[in-house]
Amino acid sequence: MGRRLLFLGPPGAGKGTQAVMLARALGVPHLSTGDMLRRAVSEGTELGRQAEAIMTAGDLVPDDLVVAMVGERLAEPDAACGYLLDGFPRNVAQAEALRAGLVDDGIELVVLLDVDEDELVTRLLGRAAALGRTDDNEETIRRRLAVYRSETAPLAEHYPGTGVEVVAVEGTGTIDEVFARIVGALAAER
Ligand code: AMP
Repeated sequence: MGRRLLFLGPPGAGKGTQAVMLARALGVPHLSTGDMLRRAVSEGTELGRQAEAIMTAGDLVPDDLVVAMVGERLAEPDAACGYLLDGFPRNVAQAEALRAGLVDDGIELVVLLDVDEDELVTRLLGRAAALGRTDDNEETIRRRLAVYRSETAPLAEHYPGTGVEVVAVEGTGTIDEVFARIVGALAAER
């Protein structure tokens, strides 16, 4: 089973939940750039101040800021034995930055979580009500989905070209059903 994994999928696909569960099962740190950025915003750091309005609009925080943040995180000792990246890379430029210099060996396997778009909007609006995330109003949600489609989804085509396999997993069903599917797909992989 790959120990340097990337979770790819549209906002609302359940990536975060599944990534936490899988990272725990594999014993590797779960590295969510969305979580890191939200923490920076709530702590009022310089990075947080630069990222806040961009996140609220549903756009991507500039690559140089995010790449530097991930570089620092990957240099921490717990990432030496593997990691599960969630929300990074978000575009081809970030993927290339990761491949070029952040780590020695790079991503081993990409897990693509697939969910149909109507279902995503319903889920995201439900989550907005539940969690009160400021980037979960309908306009921002539509923007985040558009950004995913144009910037992030192309990574599913990009990775195979760099020799990294992409395993697609259907993201509908209960949390446990989806998790079982992911574990099954990874087991079939190796
Ligand atoms: P997420 O929790 O992964 O959906 O991320 C929430 C927001 O944080 C995104 O809508 C972006 O504004 C920002 N963000 C998270 N990861 C990245 C990234 N790798 N590059 C640029 N912006 C990011």
